[in-house]
Amino acid sequence: MQSSRSEVAAPAATPGIPDELSALRGVGPALAEKLGRLNICRPEDLLFLLPQRYEDRTRLTAIGALHPGQTAVVEGEISLTEVVYRRRRSLLCRITDNTGQLTLRLFYFSRAQQEALQRGERVRCYGTVRPGPSGAEMIHPEYRVLRSGQALPLEDRLTPVYPTTEGVQQARLRSLIGQALDRWLPLLTDWLSTATAELGDLPDLISAVDYLHRPPPGADLASLAAGSHPAQRRLAMEEMLAHHLSLRQVRERARSDDAIPLELDPELRRRFLGSLGFTLTDGQQATLADIDADLADRHPMMRLVQGDVGCGKTVVAAAAGLNAVAAGCQVAVMAPTELLAEQHRDSFFRWLDPLGIRVAWLTGSLRKKARDRTLAEIADGTAQVIVGTHALFQDGVDYARLALVIVDEQHRFGVHQRLRLMEKSPDHQRPHQLVMTATPIPRTLAMTLYADLDTSVIRELPPGRQPVRTVAISEDRRGEVVERVRAACNAGRRAYWVCPLIETSDALPSQAAEATHAMLTEALPGIEVGLMHGRMKPEEKERTMQAFARGKIGVLVATTVIEVGVDVPEASLMIIENAERMGLSQLHQLRGRVGRGTTESICLLLYRSPLARLARERLDTMRRTNDGFEIARKDLELRGPGEVLGTRQTGLMQFRVADLIRDADLAEPVQQIARELLVGSPEAITPIMQRWVGGASRFGQV
Ligand code: ADP
Ligand code: MG
Repeated sequence: MQSSRSEVAAPAATPGIPDELSALRGVGPALAEKLGRLNICRPEDLLFLLPQRYEDRTRLTAIGALHPGQTAVVEGEISLTEVVYRRRRSLLCRITDNTGQLTLRLFYFSRAQQEALQRGERVRCYGTVRPGPSGAEMIHPEYRVLRSGQALPLEDRLTPVYPTTEGVQQARLRSLIGQALDRWLPLLTDWLSTATAELGDLPDLISAVDYLHRPPPGADLASLAAGSHPAQRRLAMEEMLAHHLSLRQVRERARSDDAIPLELDPELRRRFLGSLGFTLTDGQQATLADIDADLADRHPMMRLVQGDVGCGKTVVAAAAGLNAVAAGCQVAVMAPTELLAEQHRDSFFRWLDPLGIRVAWLTGSLRKKARDRTLAEIADGTAQVIVGTHALFQDGVDYARLALVIVDEQHRFGVHQRLRLMEKSPDHQRPHQLVMTATPIPRTLAMTLYADLDTSVIRELPPGRQPVRTVAISEDRRGEVVERVRAACNAGRRAYWVCPLIETSDALPSQAAEATHAMLTEALPGIEVGLMHGRMKPEEKERTMQAFARGKIGVLVATTVIEVGVDVPEASLMIIENAERMGLSQLHQLRGRVGRGTTESICLLLYRSPLARLARERLDTMRRTNDGFEIARKDLELRGPGEVLGTRQTGLMQFRVADLIRDADLAEPVQQIARELLVGSPEAITPIMQRWVGGASRFGQV
């Protein structure tokens, strides 16, 4: 195993720029620690802490020209200062220039402040204008009383506003960054000066950094706010490159490690496939062939399987698991939720138990006795396939001979979690990794996010599947919908009725589901209506799910807990309430719960009128297509930056400047630049990673 980089003194990122924050004037240990909370560990980091927004203090605005909502610098003479007691005690200070008058209103003020604001004095202030009881006013503006005759110069650059942290004020941060810019900006090495030229009009590194900290008056604030300014793109490109390079490095290091070669056992594979009752699709077979080739190698497999919901990734994973079992090794199968983990446990048990393979189960909710028993089986090797949640990789879980790790619904886990799995390998050997995802992300993005993984794609659904027919129905036709459910159940089919969280009400999501459950129970005598929500105990959820799978329950009312992975082929009717409030990818995941059998499935999207434009576009998209890639594209278009991949929720990867959606078009050039650097300027690789990913690699050391 590689030693962790933190044990080795990180080389200075840039020659000439000191490594210690104490090199900055005015920074001692206490401030250094606070800066650390902003991820600023070296002076160079200050250069790359970019403003969140800018203020324009480069011009004086005439008071008469102010309009409500405007933020501006004004200057005037005090005509009146008084303390008033209307509703709240406040200090009012009226100033005038020769165009109009403005009231400054302070709720918190000292005696000294009050005294300084004398009638006849001139003040310069900066604040946001709002309509007040007696004309325009500014509440708590920044202000300065000017000494008589004093002409205070205006700023000659836009004023940056940085993300602050407790104990580090804006002004402090500005002055530290100003110091860093003055002393060290010219020393930054631009490793990409030739590469960026090819990308069009991107500025060089030093100009880009300078521009973003101190934009000139008249800079395009709209493009800066949108993050699309060439200076921002220059840095985003380098940051994406740094992440890409470090994932490549993770991959290369891991690949140079040893793994237990897991040869295909043709006889075992044949028995398994023969017992399934279906044949694998071409995409499944091709993927399995990729996996078999990887597993037979002495170096660990690192492969991503991408495929839309329902394409049959689980069975491919199980087939791959047999290679490990045949070699006398263990397989760990990790799912993001208990419910999905249970489904996998059941599938794996159903498929593998008849072959004499011991499938074990480990989640956080196991009672101590059961947990201890499972831990013992994992440690002594009795358990051959272990299915569970992230509990599989917590401390205290020791594997006898773990050789293959399978991670389902990869997008729910962060890069860190994925890489941590690899630490559970036996001495000096790494498990092979197979990760599966149903999130169809554009290829170029996948190349950035999963640069450490090879990719196989399963494009087709199993034969006989009919696309789910999707209809949007206004919720006042609920009665008709209930009749459809009745008819479906009477014909031996099963239905999901999903009640998502309604954000505007105080009700818990489970309450919406409970109310619908009561309504349907009454409306559908003779049909068993089940209920499932997140607050139920895992055993209860499992019992309900099984009753639904076996047909004892005809209609399952659920919150969105069933979103991921749940598999009941006989369910062919899906009703989604409040569909107008849900995102496209969630709707697609939910719809993917039906259309898994051979009868035609229907998805009814219940909405409340009137529909907002975006909501209408989402529902239209759902009606128009079943193609996950198409839906993902539309989702990107409608939802915009940051949200689609769940980067916010999962911390998939933390970027300072780049936004993987907004800057998606940079992904392709980034690959190209990476290839060129690796050949032409390998000496640039480490400094670029150091600059952006930091001395302690955020991906952990593997
Ligand atoms: P996902 O890729 O969404 O995880 P699953 O692995 O849950 O999909 O598979 C969906 C359903 O399709 C399961 O019931 C599975 O047994 C079934 N299935 C998988 N492959 C095939 C196939 N080649 N032919 C028929 N049914 C299949
Ligand atoms: Mg699945």
